[in-house]
Amino acid sequence: DGRWARAIEIVKEMEEKCATPIGKLKQVADAMVVEMHAGLASEGGSKLKMLISYVDNLPTGDENGLFYALDLGGTNFRVLRMQLGQEDGRIVNQEFAEVPIPPNLMTGTSDALFDYIAAELAKFVSQEGEEFQLPPGKKRELGFTFSFPVTQTSIASGTLVRWTKGFSIDDAVGQDVVAELTKAMERQGVHMHVSALVNDTVGTLAGGKYFHKDVIAAVILGTGTNAAYVERAHAIPKWHGALPESGEMVINMEWGNFRSSHLPLTEYDLELDVESLNPGEQIFEKIISGMYLGEIVRRVLLKMAEEAAFFSETVPAKLKVPFILRTPDMSAMHHDTSSDLKVVGNKLKDILEISNSSLKTRKVVVELCNIVATRGARLAAAGILGILKKMGKDKVKVGDKQRTMIALDGGLYEHYSEYSKCMENTLNELLGEEVSKSIEIVHSNDGSGIGAALLAASHSQYR
Ligand code: ADP
Ligand code: MG
Repeated sequence: DGRWARAIEIVKEMEEKCATPIGKLKQVADAMVVEMHAGLASEGGSKLKMLISYVDNLPTGDENGLFYALDLGGTNFRVLRMQLGQEDGRIVNQEFAEVPIPPNLMTGTSDALFDYIAAELAKFVSQEGEEFQLPPGKKRELGFTFSFPVTQTSIASGTLVRWTKGFSIDDAVGQDVVAELTKAMERQGVHMHVSALVNDTVGTLAGGKYFHKDVIAAVILGTGTNAAYVERAHAIPKWHGALPESGEMVINMEWGNFRSSHLPLTEYDLELDVESLNPGEQIFEKIISGMYLGEIVRRVLLKMAEEAAFFSETVPAKLKVPFILRTPDMSAMHHDTSSDLKVVGNKLKDILEISNSSLKTRKVVVELCNIVATRGARLAAAGILGILKKMGKDKVKVGDKQRTMIALDGGLYEHYSEYSKCMENTLNELLGEEVSKSIEIVHSNDGSGIGAALLAASHSQYR
């Protein structure tokens, strides 16, 4: 009937507005390169902050000793202990604890958040065995992975630029997050020294490099999204310090804040942005990362319910609740291979209280998930092409047999296989057969925590 036709029309419009033909993706990649240059040229020169990480040497495999890492991401935080081996430069022992961040702490005070983290750290350390006791007078050393934009002032200090991903703790903005953590550890009676403050992308790059020497960039696709890569120090005009001996500097792009007129944005994206905690910011992140994909799908479904009575005569009340449809649920629906789309039916019922959905309705829901995930994945690939272009790795050079590896991590990349497959296929399509043979994506499982511990080791105060 007419209402069904209208619902289908809304999906078709979404599909057209989300289209990412190769030509458009190349424009996005080129725009990324332009912004990278601008962000490196001057402070505030671009939406891309291109933050200097103070990491001018990546792990070599020679790191050894007992080190800790604390990884504060978006949804969970993890505490990690690593015993690094002397002989073959590998991990002897590794243990971790993962704790969800209580939602009220994401919008509370700095002290409340850091006290909670320090208390978990205290618990973790108090439960460890004899073999991990340090000699008297020595402090445990920690790499702190903090996945929000920070202007670093040294390898172990930096001030918070702004929050992202649903965090909003006003009194922490502009503060040195290492000082905040250190004060909280003192309050909680944990005696640890923060030896390195790293973004999760920088940690993932370090962790990736430890296992594969050809890793030159890292991308996170999790709650949010970001990337880091190895830049030549003399190609960073805004860096006025001494040139590092290595001649290199890891740059934390903060690519989630990328924005360009070439990005395919829809009315749903604009509304999501306006109603978000950080309107006008993190536009790239808001169309490609895990925090938002399910929410975009919900917004389209709501429009279909309101304008075309897609599910029933009345609009399902739950469908009006922001963020009720999470990306893992969207992913489960997208991957449903049962002939009657049972998973889709159950998700609609359990989450949105829509019972007795028809197979035809379920199919449209899957199609919508595909449209939103495909746009995100293809744009992520365009971003990676931008990095490769900036590094001059997007062309085959005569006689160059060098492999180039990119470390990827994050829950979205790891668990949403339709998304990650699409991203990798699109990257190959963009690079062409010849070049894509030399480029390899590796999953750097837990790289951000491992990398932070490795960087704590190479920047140890006892070296
Ligand atoms: P963070 O980004 O918070 O550091 P992760 O890298 O573990 O943490 O990513 C968690 C995010 O990954 C979730 O917020 C969610 O968006 C996404 N995610 C987790 N599981 C799935 C899944 N099964 N399918 C799709 N996305 C998922
Ligand atoms: Mg993370």
